[in-house]
Amino acid sequence: MNKPRVWNPRGHQEIDPSRCEAAVSTVGMGFYDHQCKRKWKVEEEGHRWCHQHSPSALKAREEAEDKLWRDKAARRANSYKNTGLSSVLRRLRDAGHEDLATKVESALEKKS
Ligand SMILES: [Zn+2]
Repeated sequence: MNKPRVWNPRGHQEIDPSRCEAAVSTVGMGFYDHQCKRKWKVEEEGHRWCHQHSPSALKAREEAEDKLWRDKAARRANSYKNTGLSSVLRRLRDAGHEDLATKVESALEKKS
């Protein structure tokens, strides 16, 4: 699981205590980090975060993405299965093997 990064001020920079402590990457001339611009709302794991960068928000977002991905994979697997089976049954029926198609169907129903 990803952890939010805490911003480390460099040089003349100073951490703004009213804002979220997360480091946000900016792509410009190379990579720069800057402090998140939002006001902090929650205190977790010794740091202050906005609702987007808190460790618990990050975890929730990762879990939601993970679930979305798993649901998608499951749906895809199901749709392949259904397409495969129904096309086999349709082909059997088209070829005049109605009884065989029915036997296959009932055998699969018993199995699952
Ligand atoms: Zn933030």
